Amino acid sequence: MKVVDVQEPLGLDHYAFQPHLAPAVTQLRAVGASIEPLLRHRRVWMLNSSSHGGGVAEMLPKVIRLMRDVGVRAEWAVMQPSRPEFFVLTKRLHNLIHGVGDLRLGPADRELYEAVSRETADELKSLLTPRDVLIVHDPQPMGAGALLRKELGLTAIWRSHIGLEEETPETSAAWDFLRPYAEAYDYSIFSAAEYIPPLLSTRASVIHPGIDPASWKNREFPPTKLIGLLCNAGLAKPCHPVLRPDWKDPARRLRPDGAFTPASEGEDVGFGYRPTVLQVSRWDRLKGWAPLLRGFALLKRRARAGDPLRRRRLDLLRLVLAGPDPSSIQDDPEAVDALAELVSEYRGLAPELRADVALLALPMASRKENALMVNALQRCASLVVQNSIREGFGLTVTEAMWKRTPVLGTRALGLRLQIRDGIEGRINPAPEDPEAVAEILDQMLGEPAARESWGASAQRRVYDEFLVFTQVRRWLEVLGDLFARRAPAPSAALSAAPAPSP
Ligand code: UDP
Repeated sequence: MKVVDVQEPLGLDHYAFQPHLAPAVTQLRAVGASIEPLLRHRRVWMLNSSSHGGGVAEMLPKVIRLMRDVGVRAEWAVMQPSRPEFFVLTKRLHNLIHGVGDLRLGPADRELYEAVSRETADELKSLLTPRDVLIVHDPQPMGAGALLRKELGLTAIWRSHIGLEEETPETSAAWDFLRPYAEAYDYSIFSAAEYIPPLLSTRASVIHPGIDPASWKNREFPPTKLIGLLCNAGLAKPCHPVLRPDWKDPARRLRPDGAFTPASEGEDVGFGYRPTVLQVSRWDRLKGWAPLLRGFALLKRRARAGDPLRRRRLDLLRLVLAGPDPSSIQDDPEAVDALAELVSEYRGLAPELRADVALLALPMASRKENALMVNALQRCASLVVQNSIREGFGLTVTEAMWKRTPVLGTRALGLRLQIRDGIEGRINPAPEDPEAVAEILDQMLGEPAARESWGASAQRRVYDEFLVFTQVRRWLEVLGDLFARRAPAPSAALSAAPAPSP
């Protein structure tokens, strides 16, 4: 178990100076002031399973910083199991909650889950007091949180970042396995109402994830800076001197022989020049990488037909598939296999097609440089695709929407929550079908005016619903409601305060 020293440099004062963000800051401060008396002697502990990579680790530092800025004593602990096979089991649970995988969970799985939960709870125990609030993220630390809830009597909330909108034998198997732990919690939070399983439905509500407009991942850059970043990361070849030296760990690009070498070697990807379709995600089969690649190949084959502008566009078009260096993601043992499959798919392409596909491994050693690479890629893309078969929420789409880059999502609920088809982008109802992928990419690329309007509406939607300020405000409201209900009622009105509504 490790306690993360949260070092987020930008707090509420920074945002309050930006006219378009000031109203959200004012609202957050008001809610913070109203619940401060209820949280005064408590700490709020976040517990999850990774300090880098993936959506949860991405969001927690800023959430913690903003909570601290409104007077909440927030901390972050990361579990570090001694048995690596634990993450294989929890990845299976993760997939089952998404409705995929082998649903046989046996006594050996139970033994492993309980042993690691015990070990994690024991490591954390001395840091916590019964007055604290423990917010436990996703299934990995759920068992540990349940033990701490029972043994210390603290308030425990389980936050699920995943879910499926229907009940299947797979989801039932996962929830049956998790039931004894889930039931121990005071409350739970999901990213969408559709994800709340029946067993938690009476004590749960919704908080949408949110992004930070000032983060390295999302901040805006002047063009010179953007070009400098691409060059520093090895993603573009400088045709003039650039200000800063190259980064130690550049992006690496897959070569036809299956090796990854620095992306600056060989032909340039063409960022800033060529129309580019981008997907950036973890290497997970559920992200729909393979059908996206096949759809792109189909589209390229069709480049010979149509008017000259369309032919030229499709001829120049490039696909960029970017994800983290797989060796750096400790809690995702399937990533290496998923990437290997994609690599062999890539190597099966005709050589001229391979030249139009850049499969990039983005180093994770520096969180800042990784975020800057993702930011630059999202800003240079003509379209950002998230071809997920399942998606809990899909921060990659939120990030692109904030940058006004047009987005193509799928019917996966997390994406539909954000993109209304034809308003903030497009929704592909058949992400597993390469034909459907090719067709909708072709349409979107051929509609520049619509792309601009989707981009503008998308940014507005993120501003209204998916910025970190809304997320933190909702957390404070949930905590306020929980403690207002529990505190000795100073008045009838307070004791009758309603539970947060699902
Ligand atoms: N991400 C990243 N570097 C990468 C790939 C992904 O920083 O190489 C980030 C991405 O920008 C997003 C997060 O990881 O912020 C993924 O969150 P999302 O909700 O899209 O999916 P999850 O990984 O949680 O399933």
